[in-house]
Amino acid sequence: MKAWRFHGIGDMRLDEVPYPELKPDWVILKPRVVQPSVSEAQRAVGLAISGTETFKKLLAEKAPIALFGHEFCAKVVEVGADVTNVRVGERVAVESRVPCHQCRLCLGGSPWLCRKGPSMGRHIAGGFAEYTTVPAEILEVLPESVTDNEGACIQPLTGAVKSIAAARIQLGDTVAVIGQGPMGLYCLQLARVSGAGKIIGVDVRQESLALSRQLGADYTVNAREVDPVKAVLEYTEGIGADVVFEAAGGSPQQGLAGTTTLPQAMAMVRDLGKVVQVAWIGNSVTCPIDSWRERGITYLTSESCPPKLTKWAVHLVATKRVQLAPLISHVLEGLDKVPEAFHITSHKSEYKATNPAQVVVSKWDSSG
Ligand SMILES: [Zn+2]
Repeated sequence: MKAWRFHGIGDMRLDEVPYPELKPDWVILKPRVVQPSVSEAQRAVGLAISGTETFKKLLAEKAPIALFGHEFCAKVVEVGADVTNVRVGERVAVESRVPCHQCRLCLGGSPWLCRKGPSMGRHIAGGFAEYTTVPAEILEVLPESVTDNEGACIQPLTGAVKSIAAARIQLGDTVAVIGQGPMGLYCLQLARVSGAGKIIGVDVRQESLALSRQLGADYTVNAREVDPVKAVLEYTEGIGADVVFEAAGGSPQQGLAGTTTLPQAMAMVRDLGKVVQVAWIGNSVTCPIDSWRERGITYLTSESCPPKLTKWAVHLVATKRVQLAPLISHVLEGLDKVPEAFHITSHKSEYKATNPAQVVVSKWDSSG
């Protein structure tokens, strides 16, 4: 079988590798649709972001090595002898973290909080292959109404669910979302179904702002044309938003907002409001922390995503309350297109892509 392996930084090759061995509590999956995450596209070329040093270390120790591809939808083709939660033939999405079953959190009954277990794409190869093998416990079965393309987005969607869970939105809260890429647009839609009142989408790209309005923003702000802090204050009678999601920061080399948007989020939130950092900013940020203290601002990052919330995310997609399809603009056919998908994903603004580029690895046929 064929699988993409990294031989070095920026050097990925479609190699012939052995078919995976099946362990008792694991399954063998045939990937259907896979997409590189933005972070993976950055690490693949060695950009200095969180996880890049680990990537380099893994390459130094183990290259060639199959890595990445944790955002994917697959069909179960074999199940180990101890597997009870999925069956052969079912389509699944995959969680990114595997519980270690040994730490205090795992033994205390909250394995979804575990930070010690292996993670998909780093310790366990994901969907950039004809077949892959993963622990059955991290699978979520997809109903028929979720397409393969949507299924590949379930993992990042659960990332946004974690941010929403952290925010504890109150009914009628005014919510501002800085960055209308996939994570921002997921937060926007999840805030809507969580009872938000006015929602304000902020971005610098007209096409993203159009999508933002289409997906439920009441107001949009083009931060290239106006000061986004002033604009949000104007939309909130000078008070500021109750909750601000920062989903824009990151490497400017890849079209992201750098480190400026977190201080903006702090400036557009109301006194005693909440700021949630959604983005991986990839750098230190200078912020006026005494002002936050004085204003009583709560700064939050993401919470965990217990199985109940993963099922909620899948249900919202299945019932079209959260729309993923309008974000997917680039779909490539065939496993050999993976490098092109990495290129588009790391140059999204050039390609006017919102979602990462997807690759259709396999389709359903009569042979299964
Ligand atoms: Zn654990």
